[in-house]
Amino acid sequence: MARIKIFRILAVCQIPFLLLSSDLIARGQTTASSCTHCSEWNVPQAPFRIYGNTYYVGSHGLSSILISSDSGLVLIDGALPESVSQIVANIRTLGFRIEDVKLILNSHVHFDHAGGIAELQRLSGARVLASKWSAAVMSRGGVGPGDPQLGALPAVARITHVSRLPDGETLHLGSLALTAHSTPGHTPGGTSWTWQSCESNRCLNMVYADSLSPVSAEGFKFTKYPSTLAGFEKSFEFLSTVPCAILLTPHPDASAFWQRVDEHNQGAVPDPLIDASQCRRLADQSREDLRERLAAETGK
Ligand SMILES: [Zn+2]
Repeated sequence: MARIKIFRILAVCQIPFLLLSSDLIARGQTTASSCTHCSEWNVPQAPFRIYGNTYYVGSHGLSSILISSDSGLVLIDGALPESVSQIVANIRTLGFRIEDVKLILNSHVHFDHAGGIAELQRLSGARVLASKWSAAVMSRGGVGPGDPQLGALPAVARITHVSRLPDGETLHLGSLALTAHSTPGHTPGGTSWTWQSCESNRCLNMVYADSLSPVSAEGFKFTKYPSTLAGFEKSFEFLSTVPCAILLTPHPDASAFWQRVDEHNQGAVPDPLIDASQCRRLADQSREDLRERLAAETGK
């Protein structure tokens, strides 16, 4: 039963985006101050070790993941502009320093995952690396062309130095190796990340899976964009087959993260935090969400 409950939450996690999009369109506003869900997303969260060298340093509603290595730190996602002080303080609470962040990576260029990156780069001096499409959007700021939510989202602050990252590239920082996987659909440049984290002699496959929700601005029809649909299929295939022990997502609720953490902390057996089927089940649920969206568009 617990398994079923976990991914039913996915449908709920899309609601903030839908409300935000329609709300902004209705008012013709696209500023961050219009974000009715940001204060809810930005509720403080005490940082903690997820597994091995992987730590949660985001707010309660938006993930930021810190990974330590013998040659510095990696940060994945910068949440909202107003999340930056929390992320920096969380890093410090864990005994690390923002100045030691060497790489800043991203899931997708929306204000709630990339909004804080410009300031985090300024504070850390880190390199920002992103897919070709994402790097272009970051360098310009705003919302990218071809984004299904174009016109409905607040702009992302321009990031001055962004390097392009080919699909499948593995980044090395000391002994840490992180691989970028192109997972388009939610945005054309969406990227998921994999790496290994170890405790004693037990190394686990960590997966930070980008959002795959088929959410759009009003009037956008996914059925009119075959390349976007092909992108989703590529992403579902990746998520169905990637070696996966611990699944993390940009919106923690998308993978029932807090429920899994609570059950893990209570000593649940089997451990719901470490579950090799999570990625495949998220892929299945995301595929079903897209199928429902397309059915709604075509009336079938
Ligand atoms: Zn998004």
